[in-house]
This record gives sequence, structure tokens and C-alpha cells, in this order.
Amino acid sequence: MARYIGPACRLCRREGQKMFLKGERCYSSKCAIDKRSYAPGQHGQSRKKISDYGLQLREKQKAKRFYGILETQFRNYFDKAEKKKGIAGENLLIMLETRFDNAVYRMGFASSRKEARQLVRHGHFTINGKKANIPSLEVKPGDVIKVKEKSASSPKFKEIREMSISTPNWITVEPDKLEGKILAMPRREDIDTPIAEHLIVELYSK
Ligand code: SF4
Repeated sequence: MARYIGPACRLCRREGQKMFLKGERCYSSKCAIDKRSYAPGQHGQSRKKISDYGLQLREKQKAKRFYGILETQFRNYFDKAEKKKGIAGENLLIMLETRFDNAVYRMGFASSRKEARQLVRHGHFTINGKKANIPSLEVKPGDVIKVKEKSASSPKFKEIREMSISTPNWITVEPDKLEGKILAMPRREDIDTPIAEHLIVELYSK
């Protein structure tokens, strides 16, 4: 699966906000947004009036970047979201939020979605006792995500056992067992990713 391999901080600067793509660094004084909160490039500091289309486009780019998804896959998510019952924009966010890699991130087993994706790909987790290494898998209520026994002794996961982790209310986690459970499907109000999904719907509806 193709993925963006350029500098992560550049993406935050482009969107003008922290997207927490680099884990602990994002909470430190090294965060590029704190140092240079203007867009990258020669014209980054010039103020331009942005059109409605520009706003819609930026919102889509932001959503893709938060969840680390490229255009084709994002468009596929949108097409599926539109076909589901309910509001397309909300369906889209719920589908992104219930990706396996995002659930691992929300459970506190990774400091960023990027790290979560890497850990998943490297096969450190099981879902319901079965090997699972596909970041885009959709998790469902009742699913139990657990760090594999073999991986549990690594310094990274040992540290997590001692942590107190706060999770959104559709997820519960037992850090000492390195295990988390999906309690319910997230509702729109459970998702704190700052995205105005109606702009994405408007963009794709043109
Ligand atoms: Fe974004 Fe994190 Fe880089 Fe700050 S440190 S600009 S939040 S990726």
C-alpha cells in the first residue's frame, strides 16, 4: 500500500494546525507548528483569500493527513460512506475512526497513527486471538485487540503496562494486560479529530 513518506511536520504546517503525526515530539518545544506556524514554501507567509473550493479541498487533505490515507483509498472510503444509511460525512469519519491502526492509537498502544500503522504491519497485535496485520481492517464492537505475547516483553510495551491511558468512550483498555476492547461503534460526537466533514461531502458532490 502506497503511503506518504515526506516530512510529517510539513503537512501540519500546510494545514496550519497540529495533527500529532510524530508522537512525543508533537508535545515538545521541537514541534514545527509552535516554531513556524505558517505554510511551508516561498509563499507560505503571504495571506491569500481562500475560495469555497479551496476550503473544501483543504478539509479533505487534512482528513487524509490525520488518518494517513492517500487519495484513492480516501475516495473509496467516501464512496462506501455515501452508500451507507445515515449522513455521508459522519459515516466517513466513523469508518476512518474504526480502522485497526486508529483503534491501536486510540488505545494508547502507539504515540501516533503512523507508529500504530507500523506496529500493526509488523504483526504485534491480535484481534480476537487471531493474527492481524492489516492497518485498514475495520474493527467492530466486541473485538478484543491484544499485544502478542512475544511482543509484550519489548521495552515499548513494558512501559505501556505502567501507564494510565485515557480512551474515547467507545473503547476500553487494560494497560496491564496490554489489551483493549471495542465497546461500541463511535458516534460523531465521540470523534474529536477536528474535521468539518460537510466540506468534504460538498467537495465530492460537485
Ligand atoms: Fe505536527 Fe507533530 Fe510535527 Fe508538530 S511535531 S508539526 S504536531 S507532526
